[in-house]
Amino acid sequence: MPNAQKKPEEVDIIIIGAGPAGLACSVALKQLNLKSLILETGTNPGNSWLKMPNNLHLGPWISTQIDKCTSLLNHYKCPTAQEFSMYLQGFANKNRLDIRTNQKVVSIKRDDNFFILETSIAQSLRTPCVINATGYFGNPVYPEWVKNIPDSCDFLHYNDYKDPALILSSNQKLKILIVGGGISAGELLLDLEKSKHEIFLSTRNKLRFDKPKWLQILVSPLYFWLEDKFPKFSQFGSSKRYMAGGKIKKILKGKNFKKIGPILDIKNNLFHHNKGSERFDLVLFATGWKCNLTHLPSELVSDEGRPILHEFQSVSWPGFFFLGIDNQVSYRSRFIRGIRNDANVLARTILNYFANKNDNAPA
Ligand SMILES: Cc1cc2nc3c(=O)[nH]c(=O)nc-3n(C[C@H](O)[C@H](O)[C@H](O)COP(=O)(O)OP(=O)(O)OC[C@H]3O[C@@H](n4cnc5c(N)ncnc54)[C@H](O)[C@@H]3O)c2cc1C
Repeated sequence: MPNAQKKPEEVDIIIIGAGPAGLACSVALKQLNLKSLILETGTNPGNSWLKMPNNLHLGPWISTQIDKCTSLLNHYKCPTAQEFSMYLQGFANKNRLDIRTNQKVVSIKRDDNFFILETSIAQSLRTPCVINATGYFGNPVYPEWVKNIPDSCDFLHYNDYKDPALILSSNQKLKILIVGGGISAGELLLDLEKSKHEIFLSTRNKLRFDKPKWLQILVSPLYFWLEDKFPKFSQFGSSKRYMAGGKIKKILKGKNFKKIGPILDIKNNLFHHNKGSERFDLVLFATGWKCNLTHLPSELVSDEGRPILHEFQSVSWPGFFFLGIDNQVSYRSRFIRGIRNDANVLARTILNYFANKNDNAPA
């Protein structure tokens, strides 16, 4: 029968994405004797972190490890994105997780109480339970006016930026516009601190700064310990993150740096803003990301690009869960220290979900 359709492979639980959320959840399920299969689009677990900028450092290990931090000295070390990606690969190996790499989930449909997932290598899988852990990295957000950028000006999002080498080595004095006022914009300012170029920083709101990085590193272990000991503590925070104060504040006072308001319009190759108009050679966007949900049908996603949820579960597809979404449980839910906590709660939710399903099944 050459035309017969291949039957989909049956799997107990599928996790989409082998980032901190997918990996932490797979281990939490394993501890409850639930088997899961992770599908990962990249060549390795920790794929997002492999692609992040070379100079980017995460918060200290105490907040970024998804298992217990072994050495006290390590608590204070801020790993680079590459080191963190290696850590995630080691974590997956140590826990012998079942991961299939180079398998992007491209579409999902519902079939009674099951989900059929199609992957980029034309594999079809059928499961009663899916956990979407596809994160944000890889789905960059741009302002509306990106489509009006003239051909004479290059542009790049922080999502695709690796290091400043090319920009720093340019013989020409460039006019560079950085758009955004958060952590990524701060990282770009640090990278370009020693450049000879003229740098403009465009922000919609008044710039706000966090504590200097050294102070963040010093006080955060105590703060994270309090959050873990007293869960109510984490109800009062916000997931908004500002540029680190200290060095970045000083950089912005330098003669090569100018702060401007939002870009209002682009006409005749000129970018108009509240302090005049400028011709730029390069625009660097540090304008954030949206959830990676392009593989999902629109009924699962709100107009703002967030999954429509009740706690961890999709409102319209029972058995379809999410992890790592901003403010899902608390403001920490997008951050690794929130994810490692939420993963355990989600695993217990799934155990109960299967128990209730079996109780309600016809005898
Ligand atoms: C620049 C930057 C710096 C950050 N720094 C910190 C920090 O210091 N501390 C902190 O706590 N948090 C930080 N965060 C937040 C951070 O994204 C999360 O804490 C964490 O990476 C989220 O884990 P995740 O597993 O949800 O997403 P990710 O780490 O992005 O993992 C998602 C995985 O899903 C895979 N995937 C995506 N789509 C598909 C698909 N269709 N099929 C199969 N696989 C797919 C991706 O390849 C990826 O491996 C930072 C975020 C960014 C963007």
